[in-house]
Amino acid sequence: MSSNNSKWLSQLSCEHLTSLKPYESARRLFSASSGQQRTWLNANEAPESSEYTLDSALLNRYPDCQPESVLNDYARYTGLNNQQITITRGADEGIELLIRAFCESNKDAVLICPPTYGMYAISAQTFNVDVEQVVLNQDFSLNIDEIKTYIGKVKLVFLCSPNNPTGTQIPAEQIKQICQMYAEQALVVLDEAYIEFSSELAQQHLLSKYSNLVILRTLSKGFALAGIRCGFVLSSAEIKQILLKVIAPYPIADPVAQIASQALSEEGLNIMSNRVTQLNKALAKLSAELNKIEQIELVGACCGNFVLFRSPKNKELMQYLIEQQFLIRDQSKQVMLDDCLRITIGNEKQNQQLLDLIVAFMSPQKQLQQEAKL
Ligand SMILES: *Cc1c(COP(=O)(O)O)cnc(C)c1O
Repeated sequence: MSSNNSKWLSQLSCEHLTSLKPYESARRLFSASSGQQRTWLNANEAPESSEYTLDSALLNRYPDCQPESVLNDYARYTGLNNQQITITRGADEGIELLIRAFCESNKDAVLICPPTYGMYAISAQTFNVDVEQVVLNQDFSLNIDEIKTYIGKVKLVFLCSPNNPTGTQIPAEQIKQICQMYAEQALVVLDEAYIEFSSELAQQHLLSKYSNLVILRTLSKGFALAGIRCGFVLSSAEIKQILLKVIAPYPIADPVAQIASQALSEEGLNIMSNRVTQLNKALAKLSAELNKIEQIELVGACCGNFVLFRSPKNKELMQYLIEQQFLIRDQSKQVMLDDCLRITIGNEKQNQQLLDLIVAFMSPQKQLQQEAKL
């Protein structure tokens, strides 16, 4: 794409963007409008949406920067107070605000622990902030000793629990340990995008003890609201005040605030929790079935709404599933994840159809057909 850019435009645009590739979101790879008949199991979205009502009475007005009703709702849900909560356009904006507020371009760095969520690095690179990496241990646990060597060298330490795409968790003890070792040196940013699927792992109670801890949350996953773009940064009141210096004046559209409030009402929370129970059951079932297939090895753990597996036939399987209009996510380019694919848990029918396709693809007869074709 960039090779087609006019020369003057390349010279005019920021130099650090020249080699930067945009995040390959599931949506950029396959646009939602490009095929209604497709089954989307590639972006960790919920399989179905709930219903919401909209009041258009205030659409002529600019919305509040931080709608009070949504702050109150999320405070109730988390047991925090409003001053500890910043509402953002998805957790992705939370990542960006933290980088813009705490990292000097062309000078500072952030630390990530791959394999993990891709946006920490992309967001940093967008602002010309360096990305240091401490790869996870073989069992996907954190390499604490090496993380320690970056004290004084990074401003933000990104941790993700449950981690996407490994589905593994970080023990609370290690989160505390890292907050302690980086006290007054860096913010520890704990991404809890999938926390609804493993709510016992939630760490917001640590905020009162560790003033450098920041937690990212979203309505995109457990709440089935990826389409409204609503997330939260949980932090000290002081950190919130710094984030509010860099946030857009009206980040949360009024319809978004209305829908978020309904999702966080008592009824909304019940619906969410039933959905999560269903999806957790379906995940256990699908991973048990996948585990029976000879050429599939489950990888990591299942604390989110997705399952990661390795197969020597990953490329062919991915291609076969696309032909069958089933989209899952290729993770094979990530460090440690050679030959790995990730499946988002869908509804019962989708999961069964997908499983049937995978079983059919892996069956000896199918392989003979494939080999005959070659
Ligand atoms: C999906 C995801 C996000 C982004 O969430 P949005 O609120 O939709 O921006 C952030 N972190 C992780 C680990 C995710 O998987």
